[in-house]
Amino acid sequence: NRKFVLAERPQGEPNDNTLRLETAPVPTPRKGQMLLRNEFLSLDPYMRGRMSDAPSYAAPVEIGDVMVGGTVAQVVSSDVPGFEADDWVVAFGGWQDYALSDGTGVINMGKSPENPSWALGVLGMPGLTAWAGLTQIGQPKEGETLVVAGASGPVGATVGQIGKILGLRVVGIAGGSEKCAHVVDTLGFDACIDYKANGFPEALKNAVPDGIDIYYENVGGAVFDAVMPLLNTSARIPVCGLISQYNAISLPDGPDRLNLLLGTILKKRMTVRGFIVFDDFGHLYPEFAKQVGGWVADGRIRYREEVISGLEQAPAAFVGLLRGEAFGKRVVKLSD
Ligand code: NDP
Repeated sequence: NRKFVLAERPQGEPNDNTLRLETAPVPTPRKGQMLLRNEFLSLDPYMRGRMSDAPSYAAPVEIGDVMVGGTVAQVVSSDVPGFEADDWVVAFGGWQDYALSDGTGVINMGKSPENPSWALGVLGMPGLTAWAGLTQIGQPKEGETLVVAGASGPVGATVGQIGKILGLRVVGIAGGSEKCAHVVDTLGFDACIDYKANGFPEALKNAVPDGIDIYYENVGGAVFDAVMPLLNTSARIPVCGLISQYNAISLPDGPDRLNLLLGTILKKRMTVRGFIVFDDFGHLYPEFAKQVGGWVADGRIRYREEVISGLEQAPAAFVGLLRGEAFGKRVVKLSD
């Protein structure tokens, strides 16, 4: 059983010393457990937070422990009711070839699911995040303008496409012309603005002639600076993620805009609400699966996935994800 354990807590970007590859015998399941062979490992921005021991909503991975991660796996053997050999499941198997589970939080997808890895993306945690953040906090109304950052990623791409289905004008923000072209041409957003290009704030302003009613926040940083003056009275801001800050080791240098932000929230009577998907919206999973599953099945929601081959590639692929090198949902295929 190959596994990546956390070797040391990174300062800034994770490096070659952050994770260590270890080999151990395949674990033997005890009574009430099942053995899972991980087929796909999801790479997600939240993993950077688990490498750190700064206070957060979830406990950090301890030094020497297997790095956590969502997986799509096949059951090798099972003593858990409702699971049998060869079932495909979605689990939290971590960065390793094999994992033990007592079935808690594990979803059974049956013997031959179509596109099993999609359960780590549009049909799983990132999809639920997108759908719940937009519908529950964004409170969309037909004809409103939605802006979503990280627009080509698994969360942002899903947010924007759901926004279109719900009758919104949807403007994405993404890094680079290739991602922006995909967001408009393939995903069907009304516009996508490249935040790395010169004149980004002006281009964003021109793309939202009626202002912004919902801003779905995935990135923070300079992107939020450009968004803030364009927000309408009663705007809603689901605060989902701040990926531009995940490798930061201190707050950015001034000027301090905290009072500008609070003044904007006050004067425009905005709703700004952070959320943690499973804690806040896990109970909506069945409704999400039905609705978004239907839209994916009938082609109204498109999904782009990047499959990286081999567990040993996972650390570099994860660093690349934080750098913006992923184009679509990154998953690691563990074996051939
Ligand atoms: P993404 O694939 O969108 O994240 C990677 C992308 O983030 C990169 O490709 C890059 O896109 C963008 N990015 C990286 N650095 C920056 C930067 N400095 N400024 C702007 N954009 C940057 O991941 P997900 O779709 O999985 O997640 C999106 C967000 O949602 C993340 O912040 C994540 O933490 C959060 N999240 C929160 C959850 C919750 O429960 N609250 C649950 C799941 C996700 P580009 O090339 O366009 O810059």
